[in-house]
Amino acid sequence: MSEKTLALSSKLPGSGLSIFAVMSKMAVDYSAINLSQGFPDFNCSDELISLVNKYQRKGFNQYAPMPGAPALREKIAAKINTLYNKEYNYETEITVTAGATQALFTAITAFINKGDEAIIIEPAYDSYAPVVIMSGGIPKFVSMRSDFSFDWDSVKDAITEQTKMLIINSPHNPTGCILSESDIKILEEITRKKNIILLSDEVYEHIIFDGKKHLSLCQSDELSQKTLLISSFGKTYHTTGWKVGYCAAPKLLTDEFRKIHQFIVFAVNTPVQYAYAEYMNEPKHYLSLESFYQRKRDLLLSSLNNSGFNFTPAKGTYFQLLDYSDMSDKNDMDFSISLIKEVGVAVIPLSPFCTIDKSRKIIRVCFAKKDEVLLEAAEKLCAI
Ligand code: PMP
Ligand code: GLN
Repeated sequence: MSEKTLALSSKLPGSGLSIFAVMSKMAVDYSAINLSQGFPDFNCSDELISLVNKYQRKGFNQYAPMPGAPALREKIAAKINTLYNKEYNYETEITVTAGATQALFTAITAFINKGDEAIIIEPAYDSYAPVVIMSGGIPKFVSMRSDFSFDWDSVKDAITEQTKMLIINSPHNPTGCILSESDIKILEEITRKKNIILLSDEVYEHIIFDGKKHLSLCQSDELSQKTLLISSFGKTYHTTGWKVGYCAAPKLLTDEFRKIHQFIVFAVNTPVQYAYAEYMNEPKHYLSLESFYQRKRDLLLSSLNNSGFNFTPAKGTYFQLLDYSDMSDKNDMDFSISLIKEVGVAVIPLSPFCTIDKSRKIIRVCFAKKDEVLLEAAEKLCAI
């Protein structure tokens, strides 16, 4: 008797495996240096590991409170206040999440209903649009300018009566661009008196270069009232595998956020939360990231000076875009595959971050890697 095939109706028929998973797997398969997926290839601090261990031994091994360990929420609120001069009530306005990915999923699910539009600025990180679609919403893509600055005229043109959310990411993955004071002013203007929620992905807030300061949307009194600020400890403490992040938002928004959060994870890893809370006593752990990663960016770029790539140094994040248009006519996917197979370096093509312009001859490399790995990769890339 032949088995009846299950009739499935996919929620995301157009989605395959993420480009980060695809490229990291290929890097392993072809023993290539992995500059593709964004994660450090060096360990987090011993002190932080000991703190997790300490809290595990002390018995902090059962469910944390639903919104997060109070000690950690207090530290997050204090840090935001110190850096951005914005007060959030840690009881009612800060929620600890299982990484920024869950915070983004929760925020979009909480506020996007059937037919709502969410504006997404391209190139865009891959976890925004699928969640809008799963929520019955419509992603409205707008492109950055060709120099990868924010094109606010296009954003303004995309706003309709149905626009419910505008997703902002600064420092920006994959382009490394950052919001300026004038961007914030324009953002205030174009969202003024509109019923639009701002979802601000600031996971690279502490990785910003050349003396610039990160501008958080929460620094603007006007914007902070409609903003869900998302960040991640994974980027800040070299612990992407621990998957802990947070959402800071006014009570009105946090109440709705938590309604969803409690049914997705309920609560997040307990000993890790207490360890981060204690580790945050020392601000240098996050303040030192700027110089730490700027040195790595500069090491990589100076080693690529004799390569065929053109580039503008990233202003933030641990990613650098490289333009190969003087080197090859291949599309970015084929070029990336040839780099893995023939050169031994895995990178990420830009086109999976885009729906509007997929034709650019640009790849992304991650420089959160040991110096010797960056130098070896650069040597291979210079030899093309
Ligand atoms: N947003 C951006 C822009 C990212 O690059 C990433 C991932 N690295 C995330 C969100 C997800 O962060 P997390 O690993 O904390 O889920
Ligand atoms: N954010 C990481 C990157 O941009 C990847 C995280 C993931 O694999 N989902 O490379």
